Amino acid sequence: MRTAEIRRRFLDFFAERGHTVVPSAPLPTPDPTLLFVNAGMVPFKPYLTGETAAPWPRATSVQKCVRTLDIEEVGRTTRHGSFFQMNGNFSFGDYFKEEAIAFAWELSTSPTPDGGYGLDPDRIWVTVHHGDDESRALWRRVAGLPDERIVARGDEDNFWSMGVPGPCGPCSELYYDRGPALGRAGGPAVDEDRYMEFWNLVFMQYERGEGPGKSGYPILGELPHRNIDTGMGVERMATLLQGVDNLYETDETRPVLDRAAELAGVRYGADAEADVRLRVVADHVRTALMLLADGVSPGNEGRGYVLRRLLRRAVRAMRRLGHQDPALPELLAVARDRMAPGYPEVADAYDRIADRAAGEEDAFRATLRQGTTVLDTAVAEVTSHGGRRLPGAQAFLLHDTYGFPIDLTLEMAAEQGVEVDREGFTALMREQRERARADARARKSGGTDTAVLRGVLGEHGPTDWRAWSALTTRSR
Ligand code: ATP
Ligand code: MG
Ligand code: MG
Ligand code: MG
Repeated sequence: MRTAEIRRRFLDFFAERGHTVVPSAPLPTPDPTLLFVNAGMVPFKPYLTGETAAPWPRATSVQKCVRTLDIEEVGRTTRHGSFFQMNGNFSFGDYFKEEAIAFAWELSTSPTPDGGYGLDPDRIWVTVHHGDDESRALWRRVAGLPDERIVARGDEDNFWSMGVPGPCGPCSELYYDRGPALGRAGGPAVDEDRYMEFWNLVFMQYERGEGPGKSGYPILGELPHRNIDTGMGVERMATLLQGVDNLYETDETRPVLDRAAELAGVRYGADAEADVRLRVVADHVRTALMLLADGVSPGNEGRGYVLRRLLRRAVRAMRRLGHQDPALPELLAVARDRMAPGYPEVADAYDRIADRAAGEEDAFRATLRQGTTVLDTAVAEVTSHGGRRLPGAQAFLLHDTYGFPIDLTLEMAAEQGVEVDREGFTALMREQRERARADARARKSGGTDTAVLRGVLGEHGPTDWRAWSALTTRSR
């Protein structure tokens, strides 16, 4: 089943059950706690907290998400994209646990000719919060799940809150057993690659107070209006239904991966490290495309810096695969062809997207040309003495003279098995900032240290500018 069909079936299923279909919000979000929308519930937060009355009792959406926290996982696990799509169904004070569980079970397991995803019910496992006996009982009754496939977990994994006083409650996650070839038996607590989480149900039923962490706060009582928030990973469902090993191989990203392999002249599946790089390229190119389409530009901080890092990591992955020439315009076009049918904004903005990305790639290639030899020489110097740590001064030089952000130095050094003296680097950066501040103060006061001049004045008295007065008198 294609990704587009997975999205459509979800929305149809919930629309038929009284949910209003709400379009995806753009990735950059006005939410001050986030750079990007990272879950389907983000645009609905005011309705979930009760700050604003929800315009509908039930809603469903397919939301574009970017999770910066997952960037490091990309290509190394089978299931983390930096960009992904989250299908969700929401109840604002309307239905609760029983319906949410029944809906998720029905859509997941009903046969494909009937509009479902056709997952094998015998391979589904679920988790529940250890204090939530109600959910355990519902999974047994509604879905007929045996007790051994209902795993109880603690606050860390299965209790949700927004991190601040407000609604909170237990969660229940659905996992699919992909079989012994993908990992160890024993359920999701043992192996999350073999047992892949594909759907997360959040039951907001309590009100929490002030306090830190996942459980360091008091529960104040039951919410007057209980809510449902669920998130199903579209790419994860695609991974399951397309019978592929990981989400980078699904229909919306695989063509980018293949084009990257073709450009670099490597075969996917031949070498584990090269495969990771190909998956990184496929992932990052698509994420960059979606961010650029939503108006993000590469820059030095915040959202722009996330985008810049993604583009640069894609370029570097291609170089490490052996492809030295510009690659982004070509790869982005492949990603566009896959994403535009579902996201017209990608096609509309494509000229600007390609332009921005090409500019960023050119600038980065110039940076790399200048700095790579310096870095490699410094690393060689360190390792030739049996060292494992690049001095902070080298990282500072690379930053200051060659425009290497510290992340890049860290990454490139790590690739050669060397770490970086970060404290040394930070201290030099601080010194530089202080110098710049002192300079700025001096400029403000006329650019010279007047205390010195006052000393000279005290010692020698005022200067008699004869030449000057001679000149000015003559010209008069
Ligand atoms: P995991 O434990 O696998 O990291 P999660 O518990 O962090 O996932 P949730 O926050 O529960 O994920 O998000 C809801 C759903 O979104 C998940 O069940 C999964 O299907 C999907 N999802 C989450 N993170 C990603 C990601 N990085 N790439 C693709 N899909 C994701
Ligand atoms: Mg996660
Ligand atoms: Mg999880
Ligand atoms: Mg989860």
